[in-house]
Amino acid sequence: MLPVSGYHTDMATSEFGNMIEEGTRLQLQFQKRGGLLPVVVQNCEDGMVLMLGYADPAALQHTLATGYATFYSTSRGKLWTKGETSGDRLQIQEVLVDCDQDSLLYRVEMLGDGACHTTRHTTGTARRSCFYRRIDGSGNELAFLPDCD
Ligand SMILES: [Zn+2]
Repeated sequence: MLPVSGYHTDMATSEFGNMIEEGTRLQLQFQKRGGLLPVVVQNCEDGMVLMLGYADPAALQHTLATGYATFYSTSRGKLWTKGETSGDRLQIQEVLVDCDQDSLLYRVEMLGDGACHTTRHTTGTARRSCFYRRIDGSGNELAFLPDCD
């Protein structure tokens, strides 16, 4: 099992903070974040941010054990390995932990067309990234990024 620290804010001494930030011991702060850590997923080939997911200890354990990006699905309420039905799996190259040990970065190799469950209208293939639209100049509308239609 992963070491899950019983961290409370009243224990946040500078010494403890320093261990979290500068130490080599894995002390992921699941409790601080209500049981789930946000996971940024990045294509290690070109640096593209592919999606944002969430992981509980079991999802991270599964990810590390299988080598495939696995999340806790907040909508389905269970573990979810990306691509288990579509085949568009994300193979883990490495898992990075941030300074506060309260968010994760999965650096992956894409085995399928894309990381998103939506498809491009022009090609019918999965979109590479979930971030395929930007907020336009008006601040109220969305504009599709090039090659993401
Ligand atoms: Zn998506």
